[in-house]
Amino acid sequence: MIALTEIEKRFGDTRVLQGVSLAVPEGRVTALIGPSGSGKSTLLRCVNLLEIPQAGRLEIGEERLDFRPEARPSRREILAIRRQTGMVFQNFQLFPHRTVAQNVMEGLVTVQRWPEAKARVRAMELLDKVGLAHKAADWPSSLSGGQQQRVAIARALAPSPRVLLCDEPTSALDPQLAGEVVAVLAALAREGMTMLMATHDLRLARSMAHQVAFLEGGTIVEHGTPESLFGQPADPRTRRFVATLI
Ligand code: ADP
Ligand code: MG
Repeated sequence: MIALTEIEKRFGDTRVLQGVSLAVPEGRVTALIGPSGSGKSTLLRCVNLLEIPQAGRLEIGEERLDFRPEARPSRREILAIRRQTGMVFQNFQLFPHRTVAQNVMEGLVTVQRWPEAKARVRAMELLDKVGLAHKAADWPSSLSGGQQQRVAIARALAPSPRVLLCDEPTSALDPQLAGEVVAVLAALAREGMTMLMATHDLRLARSMAHQVAFLEGGTIVEHGTPESLFGQPADPRTRRFVATLI
């Protein structure tokens, strides 16, 4: 279980997240929806500590961190949490001067100090899983957007994270390429991968999520099953937003 409790994040005087509490059950997919600027990316970035909240608590597995405005977590604490998370970005963010296989191996070799040969075996397993083993020696720029995102998913999975964080993984792709990324994510979900995913893709949220949380203005307005949140939203703000998706 991943739990966020009363998370607060400010940038200067701008309060971007306030009192955000969310339980992300293990082996399940949680979708984060909400208008642009509502804080979805920031929330994901707080889970892997790319952003450090000013208040609240984060628990991932056995790791637990209490945030305070005056005390930054130690490097050791940050790495301990980060090791449990993999992140997939909207724009793939592959290393352009590394081959596909090197992209997947990179974190294992440089952060986790795996021997190169062992990392390569792991990378090939993961590339096989996303259907791209035959592209291992190619440069990212020679791949389609959908293929690049599948490499990014393989890279995020390399250290066997406890949770996969996805920030609008299909937003930069046309529908057909988005479809191949959705297929890979759906297969992971069926295998029981825990995911927290920000998305504008109603089809993605409806088809994969076990739980949907609606964020607006930095707070979670409502959360529930996809059936209840999309079918019978309780809060008028949710109702208004859901109407814009259809
Ligand atoms: P979403 O992903 O839902 O579109 P974001 O988390 O990207 O929302 O942004 C939420 C709000 O936080 C926005 O108003 C954005 O301008 C602000 N914000 C995000 N990152 C920063 C930053 N590094 N510095 C200042 N403001 C930021
Ligand atoms: Mg965003």
